[in-house]
Amino acid sequence: MRQKHALIPTLRTVAEAETASHRLLLRGGFIRQLAAGVYTFLPLGNRVLRKVETIIREEMDRIGAQELLMPTLHPAELWQESGRWANYGPELFKVTDRHERNFAMGPTHEEVVTDLLRGEINTYKKLPMTVYQIQTKFRDEKRPRSGILRGREFLMKDAYSFHADLESLDRMYRNMYDAYVSIFTRLGLDFRAVEADSGAMGGKGTHEFMALSDVGEDTIAMCESCDYAANVEMAAIRSVGSDSTGSVKDEVPPVKKVATPNKASIEEVAGFLGLPTKRLVKSLLFLVDGEPVLVLVRGDHEANDVKVKNLLEGSAVSMADEETVFRVAGTLPGFVGPVGLKQPVRIIADHAVAELDELVVGANDQDAHLLHVKIGRDFHVDEVADLRLIRPGDACPRCGGVIGFRRGIEVGHVFKLGTRYSEVMNARFLDADGKERPFIMGCYGIGVSRVVAAIAEQHRDEHGIIWPVAVAPFQVHLITVNAKNDEQVRLAETLYDRLRNAGYEVLYDDRPERAGVKFKDADLIGIPVRIIVGAKAGEGMVELTLRRSGETAECSASEVQRQLPDWLKRSDISDQR
Ligand code: ATP
Ligand code: MG
Repeated sequence: MRQKHALIPTLRTVAEAETASHRLLLRGGFIRQLAAGVYTFLPLGNRVLRKVETIIREEMDRIGAQELLMPTLHPAELWQESGRWANYGPELFKVTDRHERNFAMGPTHEEVVTDLLRGEINTYKKLPMTVYQIQTKFRDEKRPRSGILRGREFLMKDAYSFHADLESLDRMYRNMYDAYVSIFTRLGLDFRAVEADSGAMGGKGTHEFMALSDVGEDTIAMCESCDYAANVEMAAIRSVGSDSTGSVKDEVPPVKKVATPNKASIEEVAGFLGLPTKRLVKSLLFLVDGEPVLVLVRGDHEANDVKVKNLLEGSAVSMADEETVFRVAGTLPGFVGPVGLKQPVRIIADHAVAELDELVVGANDQDAHLLHVKIGRDFHVDEVADLRLIRPGDACPRCGGVIGFRRGIEVGHVFKLGTRYSEVMNARFLDADGKERPFIMGCYGIGVSRVVAAIAEQHRDEHGIIWPVAVAPFQVHLITVNAKNDEQVRLAETLYDRLRNAGYEVLYDDRPERAGVKFKDADLIGIPVRIIVGAKAGEGMVELTLRRSGETAECSASEVQRQLPDWLKRSDISDQR
């Protein structure tokens, strides 16, 4: 592509961009904003996007997934059948046609694909079946962010698998997982597959693929010694062995009520009592599917609502409102404790609480706490379990090594849906015994446009993006230092034709700009190998440069084609961290 007439509007500065990738994609002329969270992919950005798609397609096709293309407009009736017309939330874009019929702009395609397959497949003999598409999705995100990282219109690869039994689903899940590892490796991403919570979607088994980056919105607990990685909310606490629901220490003095006037936070109360926060216990009233539950964690720990929800096999968990707190404890949140509740509720305690000989707890009375509280003697605990959030420095649940926190960008997601959709949408097949059974399903997403931002976030320096060869918009950037010099132009034109004929993708900077401007743009755009045709063009000599390392060498124009494969390879080798 000749740069003189190309739509590559590079910018020296951009007014507002939260992250480096957003800034560089704007400045390099890859994307432009149309509205909040809505972006055009300019020719360079589109070429990167297409390369990402190609890698995804190759790996999907390899595991036998079949590509199709489903519509963006979804009749409301389908979403009502699944219950998500009401439950999906304000992210769902809804539109009305001229006959006042409602539609959703597809944010994901479980409903549509389930409807499709229930119409077309009715026997186990056609199973398993896996389909996928690469298609634009719409989500009215509360906070569209950082350009294409979180858009309201974005490109997703979504795959759906249909099975007659769980073993078959497990096999496909494994294949998808492996395909994702290949995809993200080929895309040059530094990533981890992390165990995640199944969330409101239901079903068992889910992994998120996280590109490691400080600008990520998710926090990952990662072991410094082994390859354990989990979403913080899922990370288990390494068992410390005690499941006892009563103190082993006998001589605990009787409960004593003390005034703690105007002390709201746990730190303030601990300071006032002259105790470390880990000697205090937080009593938190949760609502699990509407039922109040009192959760006890140590003062220096945080309760993990996902663990609470999973322990009680609930589907929705939240902190109790003030009214419920008052009804159960007769006081305000902040002074709640397990002793002398007005209304008996289920009490569950974290392991670390059960290990305390005596507890300091809220007195269910404003501005007061209880000292010397003993589990079993002063109140009853229904269950002791792992209920707290992991912290940096905690022991790895797998190997005992040290846990650290990293931020991640969710680039992909594999999910066992089970019969969540087939059951309610009555999508059934006949099994080998002629019995009707609901399909067992899996779904598997990749944020195709988000991936482009994640790659730019990980591969860059202060001058611009440094694309891995596999996704670079072009492999070679051919630049004349002086586009008015006939010798340079002649040699560059020869190379341009020769390299393209040899199958290389070449961006040819034939602009009559100053050399400094052209080099700055080349750094910004980040094509792996640069061929500079300058002062020595008359002698048939050019200069090769690697964008990533800055490494430079003179080379005769006739040698370039022979040398290029090696230079491209070196660009990727220096890529390996
Ligand atoms: P997030 O937690 O980031 O909102 P999600 O859990 O809603 O993601 P899924 O419904 O699993 O995402 O969608 C599959 C994939 O689509 C995600 O793994 C992510 O890579 C991508 N994705 C989701 N929302 C967006 C968005 N608003 N913009 C760009 N990509 C997105
Ligand atoms: Mg989301």
